[in-house]
Amino acid sequence: MKVVLLNYTKNPDQICAAAAQSCYSEKGASELFERTTAVKAEKMIKKVVEMGHLSVVEHAHFTFSVEGVSRALTHQLVRHRIASYSQQSQRYVGMDEAEYVLPPSVQADHEAKKLYKKAMDDAWKTYRALAAKVDKEDARYVLPNACHTNITITMNARELWHFFSLRCCRRAQWEIRMMAWKMLAEAKKVAPILFENAGPGCFRGPCPEGEYTCGKPYEKGHMPTDKELMVESMRPE
Ligand SMILES: Cc1cc2nc3c(=O)[nH]c(=O)nc-3n(C[C@H](O)[C@H](O)[C@H](O)COP(=O)(O)OP(=O)(O)OC[C@H]3O[C@@H](n4cnc5c(N)ncnc54)[C@H](O)[C@@H]3O)c2cc1C
Repeated sequence: MKVVLLNYTKNPDQICAAAAQSCYSEKGASELFERTTAVKAEKMIKKVVEMGHLSVVEHAHFTFSVEGVSRALTHQLVRHRIASYSQQSQRYVGMDEAEYVLPPSVQADHEAKKLYKKAMDDAWKTYRALAAKVDKEDARYVLPNACHTNITITMNARELWHFFSLRCCRRAQWEIRMMAWKMLAEAKKVAPILFENAGPGCFRGPCPEGEYTCGKPYEKGHMPTDKELMVESMRPE
């Protein structure tokens, strides 16, 4: 999986801080923006986030390219509605090569891997045979959830916060969780104040999952590596 932060609002921390300050000042955001130092921005953003005055963090947008993930992942992703998406079309792009995601649990089990590979080979064999006879848009019906896809995502910082709370959590499936952590790592590089406490709910207090809690809260601020996430994906949820 490849996750690239393609573009983002310039000076995202300062823009949101200036917008927040403009609510409480006789001055406009243009003047406040010039005066917003990193220290001021941090203080202001912390204050409004604690107050739940979250509309101010909607001024910062982030665009990611996510490549080589499964259609199972993107089906979960697009349930997040406060976002814009552009996804590779299976109507226009031929899926001639068998490119698919292999879940770590399948990879680790010899028998499961054999079964899985056979299903993929059969699906693609049928796809290619159908695509020779009918339009790609109809041949694609036989492709599996595992099929590789690329998607461009734009979310504002408020929606990203919400997305990271739900999808960095161990209750989320391993693949979307891995993508969410990668997106968070990228977002933190360019907006360290806005995303300082972003991540799973357990970063900020008791687990919000109640009786469905995984019982293994992340240590606040810990950014798991791909290897850790792979190992976690092997555990029954
Ligand atoms: C671990 C996990 C398991 C899941 N399992 C299932 C499942 O089995 N079946 C299933 O169908 N889905 C499942 N989902 C998807 C889930 O129900 C949500 O559809 C998805 O997480 C999107 O979140 P959302 O609706 O909070 O937010 P988004 O669409 O990201 O919106 C953000 C916020 O905006 C507000 N909002 C957005 N649209 C509206 C609206 N129309 N009306 C009012 N407020 C709105 C809400 O406050 C919302 O929280 C699962 C999600 C997770 C994380």
